[in-house]
This record gives sequence, C-alpha cells and structure tokens, in this order.
Amino acid sequence: MTTMTTDNSGDVRLSGISKTYDNGFTAVQPLDLVVPQGSFFALLGASGCGKTTTLRMIAGLEEPSSGTVHLGDQDVTHLPPYKRPVNTVFQSYALFPHLDIFENVAFGLRRRGIKSVKKQVEEMLDLVQLGEQARKKPHQLSGGQQQRVAVARALINHPKVLLLDEPLGALDLKLRRQMQLELKRIQTEVGITFVHVTHDQEEAMTMADTVAVMNAGRVEQLGSPADLYENPQTTFVANFLGTSNLIEAEVDTKNGDDIVLKAGGGKLVLPGARCSAPATAGGKVLVGIRPEKISLTHADDAGSIPEGRNRLTGKIADASFIGVSTQYVIDSPVCDELAVYVQNVERDGRLVPGADVVLHWSPAHTFGLDAAQDID
Ligand code: ATP
Repeated sequence: MTTMTTDNSGDVRLSGISKTYDNGFTAVQPLDLVVPQGSFFALLGASGCGKTTTLRMIAGLEEPSSGTVHLGDQDVTHLPPYKRPVNTVFQSYALFPHLDIFENVAFGLRRRGIKSVKKQVEEMLDLVQLGEQARKKPHQLSGGQQQRVAVARALINHPKVLLLDEPLGALDLKLRRQMQLELKRIQTEVGITFVHVTHDQEEAMTMADTVAVMNAGRVEQLGSPADLYENPQTTFVANFLGTSNLIEAEVDTKNGDDIVLKAGGGKLVLPGARCSAPATAGGKVLVGIRPEKISLTHADDAGSIPEGRNRLTGKIADASFIGVSTQYVIDSPVCDELAVYVQNVERDGRLVPGADVVLHWSPAHTFGLDAAQDID
C-alpha cells in the first residue's frame, strides 16, 4: 500500500506573533499569518510598518515578545537562526570581497565540511545564470549580478524557506525590474517558499502570488495582487496600491444585490459584494473607482453614454500627456481632483483643461469602503 504524504515543511505559520522592543515600542502587533509551501509571498508596507521585524522573527534574528513560529510542523520559535531551515538575503549582498564567485557560493557547503562542492556550486551558478563568472571577484560584477550571487549562496544549503529583505533596494530602476522577473523565475525553478519584504507596491505585485499589506504593525489585508487591487478593504490599501478615487456618498436604497448611493445630486450603483462597509440607508460609504476604469466624454456628447453606467459631471482641471495615456485631473461637484487615465488611442481632442465632461464607468468596477476610516 502506498501512503500519500504532502510535504508541508516549507509552510510558514505565525500564530499571535508580536514584537515589543526594549524601549517599549511595539513594532508588530499580534499577528497570524500562514505562508503556504512553495509560494512567493510579499510583506508590503511603508518604512517602519514592521515588515523587517516580522521577517527577522521568521529567521530567528529577533525573539518574538509573544506567539509562535512554525516551519511545517516544527515549532522553531526558540531555535537559533542556524538551526532553522531558512536563509536570508539582505539588501547589502554581504559577499566576501576576497573570495571569487565560486567560493562565495561554495561557502555554506565548505562550512558544513563538505569537500566535493563543484557539482552543486556549478548547478547553483547555472540557476542564477552566472556560470561564466565563477572565477571573478564580486567587485567585477554588476549590482544585479552580485545580488544573484547572494541568492545562489543562500540557496546552496537547500533551505525550505528563503527570506528576502529588500534585496533589490540598492539597484537602479531598470535593473530592479529585470531582477524582479529573475527572482520570480528562480523561485519557480527551485519551488521553495520565498518571503520577500518590500515597500514597492509594483515590485510586490509583479513577483508575489500573495501579498500581505502591513500598516503600523498590523496586516491590513492579505490577498493576490489582483484581489488587493480590485477589492481593497481599507482606504490604506486602496491608496497604497495604485491610485484610487474615493467619493463620499450616502446610501439611498438597495436594489437586489446592488447598493444605490446618492452623490452630488446623482446616483451611483455599487455591487453589494464589493462593499466592505456596513451599508445602511442614510449611512455614509466611500465609493472607490480606479482612474483607468473611468471613461471621459465631452459634455456635448453626454447623450451617447450607454445606460447603466455610473456617472459624474466635472471640469478638466489638468491634463498630462504621458505617452501611452493621458492623465487628467477633474474637479467635480462631489470630489475635487479626481484622477482619470485615458489610453491615447481613445483620446478626444476636445478634452483639454476647462472642458466640461462626464466621467462614467461600469458599476462592476466600483468598490465601497467604510467612510468612518481616515483617508490616508
Ligand atoms: P524599513 O523598511 O524602514 O526597515 P520596516 O517596515 O521593515 O521598515 P521595521 O524595521 O520592522 O520596519 O521597524 C518597525 C519599527 O520598529 C520602526 O519604527 C523601527 O524604528 C522600530 N525598531 C526596529 N528595530 C528596533 C529596535 N531594535 N529597537 C527599537 N525600535 C526598533
């Protein structure tokens, strides 16, 4: 009889984990988080929100003030870093300058007393596409190549989980974009769990299957990049991931699964399933709509707008041509400075500052947030 076993040794499970530093400052509030084996998981948030502290508690570099850390079924909360099946890549590559690339990667194996390292090191250098550079010194490589050496060195001992703390932070934008795809490819190839800390929302969304958005020591929302972008649950998430227009509106009635809201004398429709606020008649809701989901029609052509779209009137305050699209700022009776991005293939030459326009969009793209929150 064969027994099917599921390897969960690369699961990371944080239960009630928190960190209060000696000075009394709580950097991480009690946090529950499960990172499934083999996923590319990003901790995303502004500087100081507690993402590095969380990562360091997984690594064993920081003792949690409460809670437990499990890797697979093993409780590692009190294990020192070197006894955990994890490794960390830092922003500063921390390569040994006097050793060549081969020896930098071989270091972890040699430290464990392994003599025949050639095959493993070569495999690892091939994985990060540096097979040709083996005999160079770190200073002879570009920043991106050095970071790939750091990744190879961290993977050589086959950790179950690779932790990455702003690993691309020192690279210029173009190299950063290349390395994001490169790290994603490496993760797919090795198939182990990656937990990646970044403050760059585009980076998190490019690389990760699942993103935890952190704010003030808490996870505000967890989900796939598309889910976080399409269905933000808080104003912080709505504003941290891309640009959101948030319009204050009053709940009028329910119409089947839809919520009908009053805004500036007009009506807006919001699917009930996309509203994270309690929507009671007379209550306030923030209606959210992404700039690229809005169409702009000159007021003279308002009659051509199909039925069933949410609409607002406004006046163009500013228009910036940025190649593929034009970014408009619209003043409207319900909200100043609404952002609207229009693809230039669809651009109407009359849409210039001062023009009266109608903004319209599908109710399906609308989301609703609790108006009692602060708008960050
Ligand atoms: P960054 O990207 O700037 O590193 P972060 O989100 O990773 O930000 P952490 O490094 O986890 O944030 O720090 C969270 C908060 O804890 C910050 O306000 C920081 O000043 C504070 N902090 C970090 N280490 C210590 C420490 N050893 N003692 C006291 N406070 C600390």
